[in-house]
Amino acid sequence: MKNPHAQKKLDHESAPTSKGPRSFLGGMAQIIPILSRVLILVLATVGSVFAQANPDWTEPFPPFRIAGNLYYVGTKGLANYLVTTPQGNILINSDLEANVPMIEASIEKLGFKFKDTKILLISHAHWDHDAGSAMIKEMTGAMYMVMDADVSVVESGGKTDFQYGNSPTFLYRPTKVDRVLHDGDEVKLGGTVLVAHLTPGHTKGCTTWTMQVTDGGKIDNVVILGSPNLNPGYKLVDNSAYPQIAEDYERMWRVLKSLPCDIFLGAHGNYFGLEEKYPLRKEEGGNPFVDPSGYKKYIAQKEQEFRTELARQKLAAK
Ligand SMILES: [Zn+2]
Repeated sequence: MKNPHAQKKLDHESAPTSKGPRSFLGGMAQIIPILSRVLILVLATVGSVFAQANPDWTEPFPPFRIAGNLYYVGTKGLANYLVTTPQGNILINSDLEANVPMIEASIEKLGFKFKDTKILLISHAHWDHDAGSAMIKEMTGAMYMVMDADVSVVESGGKTDFQYGNSPTFLYRPTKVDRVLHDGDEVKLGGTVLVAHLTPGHTKGCTTWTMQVTDGGKIDNVVILGSPNLNPGYKLVDNSAYPQIAEDYERMWRVLKSLPCDIFLGAHGNYFGLEEKYPLRKEEGGNPFVDPSGYKKYIAQKEQEFRTELARQKLAAK
């Protein structure tokens, strides 16, 4: 595993120290390594702030086959999916940089090669799902495909995000997008097709992925939910950074309710009860992740939360 921070640190330690009277330039030469060491410390602190606030994001979870050629390779809190094909694999979500070695280990544990990752997709342009994308592209050479309205956020390392763009804690390495996706676009590889559904609101380009898997002759519709959440501080009324936010959420509810769903999954394990369902898997018959009623119930509950909050904000704005 490459660790650029460790490399930088070594460089500083081997740098000669100047002696004698300090010229301005000599002084600067000493200050620059100190400044960059401070920057490294700040970056490391940002990583641990995430980990402290959400310890389950970096807590390992056993990788397993969900159904057909679809596998779970995420942690307890951050969901990653591997879709395997004869022409290489598709990975959904890159998470924090700290998660990348864990994703790699999960893929290899299942008997696949991390280097066979040909396409990288995300649920939406927030650090907990996309901060590791630059690293994964470097390690695998995967093509990075992102929904149009999330592209500028990804390519600016989070700076153009309507809510978090000015919060240094939530910024990450800007990453070049190789293919811009539009609502309804298909991502095809080795006979498998994933469909990108624009389900905006949580981010402007929030994406819900669907595909079909075949297991024992049975075809199941898979839905990988982008995010139905209203984060703390989200303004639904008079939001100058995202004027159409409430309409976008409305669009999302319509889309989510129209999708046929057998296997219910999402960007975080707690959307669909990863921990509760995982131990219920059996060798034969009954896949706990086949949960069409759980999907409907979850969407209805989230929509209700949205309506309550929208009404509250409208009243407060009067
Ligand atoms: Zn998010």
